[in-house]
Amino acid sequence: MTYDIVIRGGTLVTATGRFSADLAIEGERIAAIVTPGTPLDAVRVIDATGKHVIPGAIDVHSHHREPGYTHKEDIVSATSACAAGGVTTSFAMPNVQPPPNTVERLDAIIDLYNAKALVDWNINAAGTVPEEIPGLASRGIAAFKVFMVVDTGRDYPHMPGIGVHDHGKLLEIFETIEPTGVPLMVHPHDQALMGHIEEGFWARGERDALAYAKAYSAHDGIIWDTAAALLLRLQKATGTPLHLLHTQTTGVIEQLRTAKAAGQHVTAELNPWAVFLGNDWRNIERLGSYALSYYVPEKNTEPLWAALADGTIDLISTDHAPHTREEKEPGWTDGWKAHTGTPSTQFYVPMFLDAAVTGRLTLERTVDLLATAPAKAFGLANKGKLEVGADADIAIVDLDAELEITDAIVLSKIGHTPYAGKRVRGVVDTTIVRGRPVYENGGVTGTPGWGRQARPSR
Ligand SMILES: [Zn+2]
Repeated sequence: MTYDIVIRGGTLVTATGRFSADLAIEGERIAAIVTPGTPLDAVRVIDATGKHVIPGAIDVHSHHREPGYTHKEDIVSATSACAAGGVTTSFAMPNVQPPPNTVERLDAIIDLYNAKALVDWNINAAGTVPEEIPGLASRGIAAFKVFMVVDTGRDYPHMPGIGVHDHGKLLEIFETIEPTGVPLMVHPHDQALMGHIEEGFWARGERDALAYAKAYSAHDGIIWDTAAALLLRLQKATGTPLHLLHTQTTGVIEQLRTAKAAGQHVTAELNPWAVFLGNDWRNIERLGSYALSYYVPEKNTEPLWAALADGTIDLISTDHAPHTREEKEPGWTDGWKAHTGTPSTQFYVPMFLDAAVTGRLTLERTVDLLATAPAKAFGLANKGKLEVGADADIAIVDLDAELEITDAIVLSKIGHTPYAGKRVRGVVDTTIVRGRPVYENGGVTGTPGWGRQARPSR
């Protein structure tokens, strides 16, 4: 037979090992994995000599901004950045306008993705309207998302319809989601504590980005720790699978260890800003709001890497959150007026490959965190692995080449990155989504509409 593509000469890396092999693709699937040099007929041969072949990254937490905020990003620009970054599946967060908290709204957004996405995708529906939850769960979604953030006057898209802070309402949401079998992602946040902390900063006249950074990390991250404690207790009460977002404190790491040891159904993610950006105070002084997402005080860095290595943190997702310069600039004088969040989908795979090259994590664990574990956590049975029969979602990466991150190469609509100037070992050479190259030779080759909903099998 003649295969569509054969990738020759590379080293395949999975969550459990690495080996030299040639990989053949037929249609959308991996059709064969054979000893290097085995004669195979192919329409196209990709030479991966000296390179590593890994499953494409699966990002379960990304802000694509469409509909409603397309001046920041849209589905085409976000998924183009994914293609260039080795990301073959990206889940969109629901803080768009109108938010997908009803079946009608979700269906409209699904139509947009079917027409525009270059890579595979799903949409994390807002699980804030209990009567809509069963209907939303029937649309092939992989997760619900709820923010515990209640807007405190900032012009940031925490619009009505996506945030719930009332503990009773949160319990009702956990209870309603449980029979659907769909996991619930939550952004942990203690609004009452944050309100008090903010009042103190404002009373002292401290309002700039540095004050904002300190407020969110006050008392060793008390707003994160108390919210996580509530969420883990609600998980225990209801059995609803919980995916905890934004792991960044040692307090949350300790709670995760205890909950997992007790057999609770919880997964947790780390976002790249927690170990590459917001964990260095010098970045916050230099970049102000451009470095925030959140300040993650330096003493958390080593515990976070350890939690990534030992499985306490299950997976890496981006929290890709592009904002324009106009939306970031006010932070120099008022951090509460700047929009929170940092972009990363194009560069996080290279940054974590660099962490593998420099020995922070094994290459196998890195592949697990980026691809295999997210597929497993969200039921994507055919993704996140290099196996015969699996979707041919593949990134070919060069660990000997160096990438210099610059604003000029940013594909996100905003055209800037807080990681500009950073040099990392690990370049994405080629990205393949279900058998079709969507990025190669330094350019995006995918077409809008090729991406398909990555539906979980439950
Ligand atoms: Zn987010």
